[in-house]
Amino acid sequence: MQNDRNGFMELIMRKELENRLYEVAPVFFSEKDLDAQETCMCFGFECGDGWFEPLLEFSKEVARINGIAMKSHICFVASQIKQKFGDIRVYWHTKSFPDMCDQIPNREDAMRLYPMMNNAINTLVVRCRNTCENCGTTNHINTTDGCIKRLCVKCAGKRSKTVSISS
Ligand SMILES: [Zn+2]
Repeated sequence: MQNDRNGFMELIMRKELENRLYEVAPVFFSEKDLDAQETCMCFGFECGDGWFEPLLEFSKEVARINGIAMKSHICFVASQIKQKFGDIRVYWHTKSFPDMCDQIPNREDAMRLYPMMNNAINTLVVRCRNTCENCGTTNHINTTDGCIKRLCVKCAGKRSKTVSISS
């Protein structure tokens, strides 16, 4: 846990947890090594370790959806995943699969998959809303304490101390 330049607590996911998510859904996270002009995924998961479990379930579901999508020569790819105002945000786009292939993506098939993708994201959002972004507990979640964060009572208490020491 650290404070950003505005004094707000900033949570950053540990590299080893990020790597586990990348392994589960390699196609969805295939742009993680591109540079910042092309994708925000180069910053990794812009949220705390506490949301790893919901993100793991989400990644498995996305890998399953991509498995279906790729048969229609299309795939879903993450552009950015971050915490904003206490919620997880997932930005994505589609592209042809394999990359630069001659096969024309079947747009109708792809459109049928959009609701599956939206469902997966909605499930993730609801789960994260009930999970502490810092420690992962699902007990005593609140969003109080000045800036909007999804934290349990214990982690929110630690955060107040962090802020008062630094200011
Ligand atoms: Zn917590």
